[in-house]
Amino acid sequence: MAIVGGGIAGLATAFALQEQAGQAEFPLSLTVIEAAASWGGKIATHRVGDLVIERGPDSFLSQKPAGLELCAKLGLSDRIVNTNPSEKGAFVYSRGKLRQLPEGLVLFVPSKLGPFLRSGLLSLPGIMRMGADLALPRQHVKGDESLASFFRRRFGAEAFDRLIEPLMAGIYAGDAEQMSLRATFPRFIELERKHGSLIRGMLASRRKAAFSGQAAPSAGPRRTMFVTLKDGMDELTRALAGRVEQDGAGLQLGRRVTALRAPSVRSKVWTYDLMLEDGGVVTADVVVLAVPAYVAAPLIRPHSRPAAEKLEAIPYATTATASLAYAAKDLGPQVRGFGFVVPRAEQRDLIAATWTSLKWPHRAPPSQTLIRCYLGGVGREQSLALNDEALLGRVKEELRALAGITAEPAYAEVSRWDRGMPQYTIGHPSRLEALQVALNPYKGLYLTGAAYRGVGIPDCIKDGSDTAAHIVRYLTERRA
Ligand SMILES: Cc1cc2nc3c(=O)[nH]c(=O)nc-3n(C[C@H](O)[C@H](O)[C@H](O)COP(=O)(O)OP(=O)(O)OC[C@H]3O[C@@H](n4cnc5c(N)ncnc54)[C@H](O)[C@@H]3O)c2cc1C
Repeated sequence: MAIVGGGIAGLATAFALQEQAGQAEFPLSLTVIEAAASWGGKIATHRVGDLVIERGPDSFLSQKPAGLELCAKLGLSDRIVNTNPSEKGAFVYSRGKLRQLPEGLVLFVPSKLGPFLRSGLLSLPGIMRMGADLALPRQHVKGDESLASFFRRRFGAEAFDRLIEPLMAGIYAGDAEQMSLRATFPRFIELERKHGSLIRGMLASRRKAAFSGQAAPSAGPRRTMFVTLKDGMDELTRALAGRVEQDGAGLQLGRRVTALRAPSVRSKVWTYDLMLEDGGVVTADVVVLAVPAYVAAPLIRPHSRPAAEKLEAIPYATTATASLAYAAKDLGPQVRGFGFVVPRAEQRDLIAATWTSLKWPHRAPPSQTLIRCYLGGVGREQSLALNDEALLGRVKEELRALAGITAEPAYAEVSRWDRGMPQYTIGHPSRLEALQVALNPYKGLYLTGAAYRGVGIPDCIKDGSDTAAHIVRYLTERRA
């Protein structure tokens, strides 16, 4: 069995396979092949003095259980850190200043009116239009709908442009006009269908959760919406790779897969050859491609053109993060809370900025403040053509214009993510179905990772675990 790609999805698949094969009493001979020199893929932490810098993801959602559950299985629960309780809230840069995101937002949907009125983020007509969601009839849209179209019709253009669009861009670095509602937030379709209103639906689910006790603190420690690991996100991937190796997998770093040879079938057992850049060959009866879709496409193309075309139809956004460390005394009172997002309508280079060490104090010594800026994304890539020095210059200009930061950072670096973020554009769910149909004849060949059923770390972990379950089912049927 071979897994190609040692990002979180590939490693989580390996871990789940070992766990599930153990339970099903399958002998497992497993190899994980990774092109880079280290494990983790997009999860890439590095340390500069006392600064803990995340080149990629800096945290994960605690509400999707797969992340926390995996940490618990790896013995990392006491390494999990909540967001700083003494800083609160995030901001939106809108019409010339940073405005606090109104309290009581549950997944973009307001649950309290007062904070909305006070925040000044939306005009009174904008708030009233948002409230019209309570009265507007439900609409059955055939097929898929864009995020922009859905939220504009439910909440109005102003709430979409000033509130929802920037929060979504902060997650997907995408263009909401092109993104699929069904693939990204299917829950909202359900809320509209069932309750006729997103606000009513959200309030009802909260009441239900409170009534059934789900909202009460569970036996474990209370977690904030986003959590991270004490020494950085790569604690997770290092522990995961260590455990997978300890449990018998062969881990191969620095080996790039360049081709997948035509499978041969003997007594219903399919055999695949993975050709490596260094001339090596790995033969396996089960292959999991846990690589970006544009890497999987040429590997699959010789076997299934339709499948390769579906993979190629998954676009990627190119982004960059810039981490800057300032002397804390040089920053003014506007640097408070967790950071800010910038609506596309403002036509700025930054998508978002996180006051990293206010959100996670252990990421910098108290005398310093670490800031992380997010740039690029669909339709906003222009600034990424600049070299690192010029890009940092642009980031500093943005921080001055948007947040009044005039000081010079003591340290600054850029991390580039060329085609780093898959985009679930309209039609993504039906493309995935067609992809599955095209791959069905190839027994023992699987695709997992951020390109398909969720980009967040818990989504990738869950996808890896689901993939392992499919593999164990396939092996059980084959054995029978
Ligand atoms: C800047 C940025 C910030 C993000 N922030 C967050 C966040 O805060 N929270 C969150 O939940 N998510 C975040 N995400 C999303 C999340 O990090 C990713 O979706 C997730 O880590 C992807 O995991 P993966 O295993 O699917 O892919 P990857 O991490 O891309 O792993 C794929 C692996 O395959 C390897 N590979 C590629 N080609 C080959 C080949 N031919 N042979 C062998 N190996 C190969 C690669 O080297 C890589 O290690 C962020 C993403 C980015 C880019």
